[in-house]
Amino acid sequence: MKLVTYLHHGQQRVGVLTAKETAVMPLPYTDMNTLIETSSVAEVLSAAKATEGLGASTPLSEVTLCAPIPRPRQDVLCLGINYKDHATEAAQYNADAFTKERPIPIYFSKRVNEAVGPEGAIDSHPGLVQRLDYEAELAVILGKTACNVRPEDAAEYIFGYTVLNDVSARLLQTTHKQWYFGKSLDTFTPIGPCIVTADEIAFPPALAIRSYVNGELRQNSNTSMLITGIADILAELTSGMTLLPGTIIATGTPAGVGMGFDPPKFLHPGDVVTCEIEGIGSLRNPVQ
Ligand code: MG
Repeated sequence: MKLVTYLHHGQQRVGVLTAKETAVMPLPYTDMNTLIETSSVAEVLSAAKATEGLGASTPLSEVTLCAPIPRPRQDVLCLGINYKDHATEAAQYNADAFTKERPIPIYFSKRVNEAVGPEGAIDSHPGLVQRLDYEAELAVILGKTACNVRPEDAAEYIFGYTVLNDVSARLLQTTHKQWYFGKSLDTFTPIGPCIVTADEIAFPPALAIRSYVNGELRQNSNTSMLITGIADILAELTSGMTLLPGTIIATGTPAGVGMGFDPPKFLHPGDVVTCEIEGIGSLRNPVQ
């Protein structure tokens, strides 16, 4: 199932895309957080089948897609430097801030008051931000409370997957010696276009991941190339921290971000950045 949050006649709803992905069928939940917290994937599938029988689909052309989880209940958990090729380019850009040897995962979080949806604008924050950058990432969404998860059981805790752009203000990120501020500005977290439920993606996911700026291919990798995989991330974090349903974990970005080029290729107003993952879809966001 591909689950979406969308606006129709000014009302925000949760729905499932039809097989041809040309229309959306509404689901009986008030929002995506409630859906994830109250139902398993199997239960949502049953609800979707019941809805299908009603034939109440709306063409996608008549709705506006929002981020699938427009208001995450908690900060997004993130992995830093979690693809080997990105570790190399980050160290070349700033050896003090991003050292090459990363045997232990870097965890940080990202404040998201309101996630930007597919087609939503990224604010360049002129006057505050220099060196605006993009990071295409596979985001994992947990479906149930996770505590002391064994790596071999990790897949059972995953509700689904989506695409996330971990937009980053590089100068703020390095100046403050930690990443929270430079990663958490308003509009810095586009998510979408949908959540693909975990039953549709073999674990661990091995999916092509790419990004483009103004149509130019920038990142081109595969989610099988993570340094620390999803099972180990879940096992380590939950060994001392309970994670709740609806938790979003951004698993890191491959090489090809703006700071990785010589000279760097940062984002500017008027640019359009597209992040896509095989089997999930594309997030296309203009910078303004
Ligand atoms: Mg990132």
